[in-house]
Amino acid sequence: MFKKILIANRGEIACRVAASARRMGVRTVAVYSDADAGAKHVQACDEAVHIGGSAPKDSYLRWERILEAAQATGAEAVHPGYGFLSENEDFAQACADAGLVFIGPPPSAIRAMGLKAASKQLMEKAGVPLVPGYHGADQDPQLLQREADRIGYPVLIKASAGGGGKGMRLVERSEDFAAALASCQREAINSFGDDAVLVEKYVLRPRHIEIQVFGDTQGNCVYLFERDCSVQRRHQKVLEEAPAPGMTHALRQKMGEAAVAAARAVNYVGAGTVEFIVEQPGGYDQPEAMKFYFMEMNTRLQVEHPVTEAITGEDLVAWQLRVASGLPLPKRQDELRIIGHAIEARICAENPDNGFLPATGSLHVYRKPECTSFEIGDVRVDDGVREGDAISPFYDSMIAKLIVRGDTREQALARLDAALAATRIVGLSTNVQFLRHVVGSSAFAAARLDTALIEREKPVLFQQQRLPLAQAVAAAVAQVLQGERTQEGADPFSRRDGWRSHGVAERRWDFQRGESSTAARLRYLHDGALQLCVGDGEAAVQGLLDWQPRADGGLEVQFGGQRLRAQVHGLGEQLHVFAPQGAAVLGLADPLAHAGDVHSEGGRLTAPMPGKVVSFAVKAGDKVAKGQPLAVMEAMKMEHTIAAPGDGVVAELLYAPGDQVAEGAELLRIQT
Ligand code: ADP
Repeated sequence: MFKKILIANRGEIACRVAASARRMGVRTVAVYSDADAGAKHVQACDEAVHIGGSAPKDSYLRWERILEAAQATGAEAVHPGYGFLSENEDFAQACADAGLVFIGPPPSAIRAMGLKAASKQLMEKAGVPLVPGYHGADQDPQLLQREADRIGYPVLIKASAGGGGKGMRLVERSEDFAAALASCQREAINSFGDDAVLVEKYVLRPRHIEIQVFGDTQGNCVYLFERDCSVQRRHQKVLEEAPAPGMTHALRQKMGEAAVAAARAVNYVGAGTVEFIVEQPGGYDQPEAMKFYFMEMNTRLQVEHPVTEAITGEDLVAWQLRVASGLPLPKRQDELRIIGHAIEARICAENPDNGFLPATGSLHVYRKPECTSFEIGDVRVDDGVREGDAISPFYDSMIAKLIVRGDTREQALARLDAALAATRIVGLSTNVQFLRHVVGSSAFAAARLDTALIEREKPVLFQQQRLPLAQAVAAAVAQVLQGERTQEGADPFSRRDGWRSHGVAERRWDFQRGESSTAARLRYLHDGALQLCVGDGEAAVQGLLDWQPRADGGLEVQFGGQRLRAQVHGLGEQLHVFAPQGAAVLGLADPLAHAGDVHSEGGRLTAPMPGKVVSFAVKAGDKVAKGQPLAVMEAMKMEHTIAAPGDGVVAELLYAPGDQVAEGAELLRIQT
């Protein structure tokens, strides 16, 4: 086994590889760009080397720098993760030339699977089923037209060198073929510098099912069953699960053996994935009628590998390191078993209501479900970020992967929903609530899967509000009042809460949810009870409001006879309400009048929000006067000055400039 490896990647996959290496006693070297200087993956490794600027072409794609870093630190092998250099045959070769082991397949296997048309020819020879189509070298337009007519419409024209969903044209009728071909060729030459295309039958309502394969240098090759990745948006995966719902034993064996044949055809070594498109001629209810066709092979570890780990109990990164160091596969085919069902959800910084446009910003609040961290357990979170970190425009918008396992699919679904409900992110838009809607949809629950599920189920997936507005507002009001209570102590005469010894006082807030505004009116009754009215007219919801703080920082809110376990986070002029039912963002002009103030309790000065310490204007021993600036904090790209609440002497600074601090962290101490 290696003593030290370099991880030529960032984010969650770099952390993931580092975790396995650590457990195996293998030391790790991280590489990082300017933007990643304080990143989690840098901390996760034993050593780290700066390799350049923030843009991938200036750092994670600069192989000379990466090879230099490996040599300078004495690493014996390079793990490429996924993306970046993982499927670059020249990089794999350069590693070998530099005397380093590339933790992946031989360059020849990467090359063989790199071009769609060439890989299909190879697969045809190996007896792997292909989508009916034409993938020959002769590119005469008339020949291509005749082939399309023979295959039957609709057909798909694909750029042979294409990838990432680019360079594809769907053609419905023979008379449209010539124009679509010309347009596809133009895009192919512009994007990939190669106008060769292939034509294949367009499979209607297909599923995407892929097989995890593993080969070693002794010539062994096994499959670790399938993953169903049919739930996609923009041809990219959103939810992945294993095993595939409805998969029969016979079909699994046939697909597994076809995948192993594909891997053997290119002398595959290491982790690989053979992707199949699966036709369902009998509809969703007749899995035995499913037909599968080779689509492509990914010659690396996949993002969704954890679901395979969850159902097999195997650590695929550990397998990769073993195989790369020359050891045989740890298990034979007949020793591998499927235990239970696993689902992965990709949590991304994006806006589902706006075409899934990627979002950037800071993870002002980032709370995860309780999990067994890396260990293969029932709830696992793989990520490469911490609270306070930024999701920058330079890299992928994926924040985290949530992986759950259950004895049955039903149990896994319930766990995933609970885990998503416990995921609280404030500071940028994410797809967490959207994922809950997909997971909770009847189509997904009943496993009526195909690649158009999200598109088809649009009406039920978008703009759903599962948390009733009145309940969300009640939680927000309770949070505001609780904030005032803890700030001002129990003395009723100093409270701002409208308390009166005689008579009734009323307060009013106007909350925004989306485009609409809702009034909340609170009345203080004689007996000390609070009555809340949310909304106006017939739609108004009225009832008594009460709450208890919870040990986890949340509130147990009772409103109008209903109970809500809520967590409310304030950010700027917004209150983010999270509850098991769902989440809501409520706008409130100046919601926490004290949000920018310093919380000062007996000389302790605490951070009003999570963020970064930019600078201190004072040092220990300095005399300070009331109102004097003490420190500057940065949160959400805005600077906040923290001023002295009274005269005194600085006793101690508890952080240094550049430190990330949590909300409520004590920044400095003042002797008054
Ligand atoms: P890329 O390399 O650009 O990702 P793929 O060949 O892997 O292209 O196809 C991407 C996606 O397009 C698949 O996941 C599937 O949803 C769809 N697709 C590809 N081929 C077909 C086909 N023959 N019929 C129907 N859908 C297809």
